[in-house]
Amino acid sequence: ESFEDMCLHSNIMKDIAFHAYTSPTPIQAQAMPVALTGRDLLGCAETGSGKTAAFSIPMIQHCLAQPPVRRGDGPLALVLAPTRELAQQIEKEVKAFSRSTDGFRTAIVVGGTNIGEQRSELRSGVEIVVATPGRFIDHLQQGNTSLTRISYVVLDEADRMLDMGFEPQIREVMRSLPKKHQTLLFSATMPEEIEALAQEYLNCAVRVKV
Ligand code: AMP
Repeated sequence: ESFEDMCLHSNIMKDIAFHAYTSPTPIQAQAMPVALTGRDLLGCAETGSGKTAAFSIPMIQHCLAQPPVRRGDGPLALVLAPTRELAQQIEKEVKAFSRSTDGFRTAIVVGGTNIGEQRSELRSGVEIVVATPGRFIDHLQQGNTSLTRISYVVLDEADRMLDMGFEPQIREVMRSLPKKHQTLLFSATMPEEIEALAQEYLNCAVRVKV
């Protein structure tokens, strides 16, 4: 399947063309059509496969279909990633595919950076938050953001997040989400702990492996 066949928003198509992505990578070809239908997805893929765009483009398309985010509203979509570096890479990609869309905002929420600036950015209202689990929970507990409008969640490099001890934070987020939401879980490996997490939090997920 080509990007043209995916019925993407014209702004997103412009951004894809700008990045000279001529055809989808295998993970994109498999995961994007599934994600675009709103289904949960369990993706077995490594960094370098193009998985970031595979979940980011459907995420932006999903957000474009939601009512506007106003000051004081929580985000529409959340990406949790194990490290600050990965979160930064993801944010860059999300920004790249939303640059043609006026007023589309993405916040990065990671440790080791100014929490006050993140607080005011979150409170001003953003469509998408890319975060590491610990810092995101800090902001939730401080009332700087909320889960009430989140309807698209990505757990990226879930195996690494578990290795780093983020399971309690992930569970805290997953159990507090609004009932109606779509979840995408990506992991390079599929140990029992990931299968258990998927079993618990994904709903009739489509499995994709590259
Ligand atoms: P990722 O696995 O998401 O970290 O992506 C790996 C690299 O592949 C990144 O530098 C992307 O910019 C690039 N990339 C992702 N999708 C495509 C595509 N469809 N065509 C060309 N390059 C891509």
